[in-house]
Amino acid sequence: MALTIIGTMAFDALETPFGKVDRIIGGSATYAAWAASYFTTPIRQVSIVGGDFPKEEIKALEDRGVEFDGLEIVPDGKSFFWSGKYHMDMNTRDSLITDLNVLAQFDPKIPDSYQDSDYLMLGNLAPAVQMSVLDQLKERPKLIIMDTMNFWMDIALDTLKDVLKRVDLLLVNDGEARQLTGEYSLPKAAKKIREMGPKYVIIKKGEHGALLFHGDKIFSAPALPLEDVFDPTGAGDSFAGGFIGYLSRTDDCSFENMKAAIILGSTMASFCVEKFGPNRLKELTSAEIEARVNEFIKLMEVNIEVSLAVNY
Ligand code: AMP
Repeated sequence: MALTIIGTMAFDALETPFGKVDRIIGGSATYAAWAASYFTTPIRQVSIVGGDFPKEEIKALEDRGVEFDGLEIVPDGKSFFWSGKYHMDMNTRDSLITDLNVLAQFDPKIPDSYQDSDYLMLGNLAPAVQMSVLDQLKERPKLIIMDTMNFWMDIALDTLKDVLKRVDLLLVNDGEARQLTGEYSLPKAAKKIREMGPKYVIIKKGEHGALLFHGDKIFSAPALPLEDVFDPTGAGDSFAGGFIGYLSRTDDCSFENMKAAIILGSTMASFCVEKFGPNRLKELTSAEIEARVNEFIKLMEVNIEVSLAVNY
């Protein structure tokens, strides 16, 4: 099934306890497209870059079935730039610089060739831009998922809440779920988010896995305890790309299949953090992906018999 992804394509500067890079390819849509490309085709990208964005990066994604009719290139503009520094726990980070550059003028146009996409990922982007994309759709896709972050909650909360009313699933991390709802308890936060619109909520907890909430059902997926986490940047976007890429591949949005999709999302996130930027995501094989999914399955295996014959 066709999948449309809207998000940033960017340059990042990153500092982790294990190293530093001054300029590397990043962006929410870049990571999501790489992750999704292992599961589904075509992927239709909607983004904006400056003339400084390398053509080879676009070509590499094109070779994996990503379409760019919805990519605006501003020849004399600069691409979105973000710089972040991770704390020792690698779960928390500070955004040091967010230079919107061409993103400040982004007014996406959904090409006619994208109109029949069944799956839509509104990647982390200004809520007004996410809204404009929804307004341009002639038919509602089968599933609309939305990612966001604290940055947009701080500066565009009202529009963000308007977008929430129109999507099926929200992906946030634990801190963002708490910020959005004022609830410390994640089940309570998920309930409040569902009251805001989305029927499904995924709360990512970094190295502690992810929770999926729908109605009175909860699924808890682990994260793989990796020995070497090099750079967590893009883990959330790779998770989202793997998740919706798998749903698009299987064309099944049941709760049961979403559980599988979460494991595929977690698998792609686990690869993403092994190298700086999207580099690890560019070199995967199906055999590696399958082996890692099996590691997840093993990690979740439990065989207990509870017999409480004696009452205390
Ligand atoms: P993640 O680690 O999954 O949250 O994604 C990190 C990526 O998001 C980086 O490559 C950044 O370029 C991009 N990013 C950072 N801040 C923003 C923002 N405010 N809006 C959109 N994308 C962003």
